[in-house]
Amino acid sequence: MTGWWKLTYEGFDPEAQGLREALCTLGNGYFATRGAAPEKQADDVHYPGTYIAGLYNRLGTEMGGRIIENEDLVNVPNWLPLEFRIDDGDGDGEWFDVDVATVEDYVQELDLRRGVLTRSFIWVDPHDRRTLVTQRRFVSMRDPHIAGLTTAFRAENWTGRLLVRSALDGTVTNAGVPRYRSLNSQHLAPVATQNGGETMSLVVETSQSGVRVAIAARTRVTNSHHVPEVVRDTTESRGYVAQEFTIDIVEREAIAVEKLVALHTSRDRGISEPALEAREHLENVADFEDALQSHVLAWDHLWHRFELETEADEETRLILNLHVFHLLQTASKHTIDLDVGIPARGWHGEAYRGHIFWDELFIFPFLTLHMPDLTKALLQYRYRRLPHAVLGAEAAGFEGAMYPWQSGSDGREETQVVHLNPKSGHWHPDNSHRQRHINIAVGYNVWKYYQATRDVEFMAFQGAEMMAQIARFWASIATFDKARNRYEIRGVMGPDEYHDGYPDADPPAGLDNNAYTNVMVVWLLNRARRALDLVPEFRHRELWEKLGLRREELERWEDICNRMYVPFHGDGIISQFEGYDDLEEFDWEGYRERYGNIQRLDRILEAEGLSCNPYKASKQADVLMLFYLLAEAEIADIFERLGYEWDPAMVTRNVDYYLARTSHGSTLSRVVQSFVLARSDRERSWTAFQKALHSDVLDVQGGTTAEGIHLGAMAGTVDLVQRCFSGLSTREGKLWFAPAIPSEVKRLRFSLQYRGGWVDCEMTSDKMTITSREGIAKPIEVVVNGEHFELAPGAMREVALG
Ligand code: BGC
Repeated sequence: MTGWWKLTYEGFDPEAQGLREALCTLGNGYFATRGAAPEKQADDVHYPGTYIAGLYNRLGTEMGGRIIENEDLVNVPNWLPLEFRIDDGDGDGEWFDVDVATVEDYVQELDLRRGVLTRSFIWVDPHDRRTLVTQRRFVSMRDPHIAGLTTAFRAENWTGRLLVRSALDGTVTNAGVPRYRSLNSQHLAPVATQNGGETMSLVVETSQSGVRVAIAARTRVTNSHHVPEVVRDTTESRGYVAQEFTIDIVEREAIAVEKLVALHTSRDRGISEPALEAREHLENVADFEDALQSHVLAWDHLWHRFELETEADEETRLILNLHVFHLLQTASKHTIDLDVGIPARGWHGEAYRGHIFWDELFIFPFLTLHMPDLTKALLQYRYRRLPHAVLGAEAAGFEGAMYPWQSGSDGREETQVVHLNPKSGHWHPDNSHRQRHINIAVGYNVWKYYQATRDVEFMAFQGAEMMAQIARFWASIATFDKARNRYEIRGVMGPDEYHDGYPDADPPAGLDNNAYTNVMVVWLLNRARRALDLVPEFRHRELWEKLGLRREELERWEDICNRMYVPFHGDGIISQFEGYDDLEEFDWEGYRERYGNIQRLDRILEAEGLSCNPYKASKQADVLMLFYLLAEAEIADIFERLGYEWDPAMVTRNVDYYLARTSHGSTLSRVVQSFVLARSDRERSWTAFQKALHSDVLDVQGGTTAEGIHLGAMAGTVDLVQRCFSGLSTREGKLWFAPAIPSEVKRLRFSLQYRGGWVDCEMTSDKMTITSREGIAKPIEVVVNGEHFELAPGAMREVALG
């Protein structure tokens, strides 16, 4: 690692290759390509995947006499292939292969500021001929359809000829996740190949979703003076097209092969046909350096908008930048025009099949306060799938809209029916679709987006409708228990995926009264009502008519807000679900001793023929999510309405209780842990922050990052700096701050887009400065540590802290 803008790896390490490929992925919100070696095809070490945002395909696989369907993020043709070998005229030379060749000074470096991946090494061939090879690549942040790879050669001690092969490979399958390998994975059917002059192209089509993908590639030789003409041999076979040519190498003279590609699909707007568009698009790109320059400028602009200047140690700064970088490569301004959601694992690999989960909850706060249009586009992904959510609710016997736990192309439930425990080799039913709390996340995100933007149009035409339909669902799944005189929600799972039923239930049928779900439902029903009230009168009426809303329904929402059941045990401990207290304590020490890393306790216990259900052992924050999402005042308010006692000391008590019973089997858990400890135990909070920060760079789950980054944890750590260190929240039409900067951070500086204007914030442990930039936005209401003031555009305010 060098400074805080470059992620550097020295030496080639086959063991770490998968991880490096994922972390060195380049993308632009439209497509992404893993940082794989251009000369390699997929094998046990290398996996050159390229993914187009939101491009899925559904395939069935026969398992145990029935067809299991899965919808996958498709690995599209590999545009990288660039191979070379010294041509001695005898046809004997070996193609360069990083796995077997002798290489010296091997360095792979990702420049985050510029979005450029460089790989350089000295290749020493069996005749001791030494060649410095430097490859640079980018996936354009300026033009989302363009990418480039240039390979420069400089012979140190020889003169001769080099044979080069440039190809587009559409014979790829989805083979990036070993656990999925027994499932069908052939998503692409070849359509056409073409070769003409410097350019070749390839067209494939996804087998079920019927999307055509076209890639055109132009390969050129350049040296310092001109573009030498080369004679090309072409190869075309099913799903594969290549060009081979030789270049003259002169000792100590640089020569490069540059490959520029244009990628289009039949889903693109403003085109006639993807193959034609890809070829023509490429003709309009001057050369590698030109395209690179505009790409670097686009990144420069992005960093101005998104950078968090955190004066902390170099490593912390670097990883934070890396996280922002990958977030923006997954969703960027190019995403705004697409119909895609934000995938839990980025477009960086095939884990979780590119699906969309509740992880949005951890990702949106940062995006919303820097590029609200992007959050809006991602919320529209949900809005377009509202009809499917309505069907989902209906099929399950409920009213309103029930969004699926995992969402892909059309918004139906994509959670796999069975999952494989790699530790035992057993396939098991997957009950995680019972995580109905995804329907809290969607509603919460809509409301928070509105709070940060005051976008009444969005609320009027999309947001309020989503919130109302979700509220309806919750009101219909809630049942009234007469004896208790309270509402209950039965048969669900909370965020803790280790518990999918009661210990004696066979099969597991979910849990009753998950506290996180019940409390948040109260919050949500209240906000849904407010959302309906704030839309303009005419739209209000239209919505009531369109949805057939009835007064009694809103009365029921109100009633639920006053009489929802929340389970407790012990001294003010909110029970994760009803009956939690009856579960056995888990032998944490014993298991740690036996297994070392017990993050994935579910897999360990299953391999032992046991399950987590009988134990007080959680995968991740569940009750604690309440303190992550709601301000203390909001919780106090909800508890008061429900007639439960609330005492601020309950936060610490619950935090201590549940942290002692959590294995942190999800990378999201450390983010929440750091957040909830930030004000009571700064040291532990910082340690948890560091753990969350290292989730991917150190691949703490032992192999999962290679299959895709953990975007929720990446964005969550950045959001910890932005929202937790500064105590920022957006509620009641105000921008709140209560800074609690860790002593490890000397100064924090960032800019926020809030309610149509830009706000620059700077804080140290003893002072906060907040400036509203000149502009057309209205004055905003700000609260810093309880001090309320109005800030007009152009005004600045300094507040003493400490
Ligand atoms: C976590 C979920 C998360 C999913 C996708 C799972 O391991 O338990 O909370 O949504 O990963 O990131």
